[in-house]
Amino acid sequence: MKLLEDRIRQDGNVKPGNVLKVDSFLNHQMDVGLFNEMGKEFRRLFPDERINKILTIEASGIGVACIAAQYFHVPVVFAKKSQSINLDGEQYATRIESFTHKRVYDVIVAKKYLGKDDHVLIIDDFLANGCAAAGLIDLVHSAGATVEGVGIAIEKGFQEGGALLRSKGVRVESLAIVESMDAGTGEITFRA
Ligand code: 5GP
Repeated sequence: MKLLEDRIRQDGNVKPGNVLKVDSFLNHQMDVGLFNEMGKEFRRLFPDERINKILTIEASGIGVACIAAQYFHVPVVFAKKSQSINLDGEQYATRIESFTHKRVYDVIVAKKYLGKDDHVLIIDDFLANGCAAAGLIDLVHSAGATVEGVGIAIEKGFQEGGALLRSKGVRVESLAIVESMDAGTGEITFRA
């Protein structure tokens, strides 16, 4: 998506450790007009009428997912990062290792918000090693629900997540795929 690629080139900052900072429009301050165009594009890429729920993870996925949901006319559920898993049987739980924070989170979704009849589109801001997406897929499967696809704003194509998910047959659509980025020069290239 050219609009997003241009914005990343203009305002993105490449940090050491393969981290792309996009705080000025995506991860801290949010450009809602841009999110709106991203939401339309997700709908175009995932036209399947069976999608009846969007699943994301707090915090950065929520904004993107909510704006996109307006084009799908479906609710958004966000997986919560939890200090302790409550073993009362009322929630699905999984563990996700955070790429940016280098720690493992327990992540939960209440059972009442995800069930076997759900056809779920997973949306997140970034795809790097794929831990977040894999964890969300795990939650959907725990519920007996169906994953219809994974929609990502920015995929770092030089990390393994995208290839891993696609090799398992998951439909992954990323609005911008970073092919390479250089913390020294700040140069960012995109997959065509
Ligand atoms: P993964 O689980 O695929 O390794 O990483 C995805 C999660 O880590 C995303 O939810 C995102 O919040 C965060 N993330 C991974 N790489 C980056 C990055 O380069 N920049 C930013 N801002 N977040 C990232």
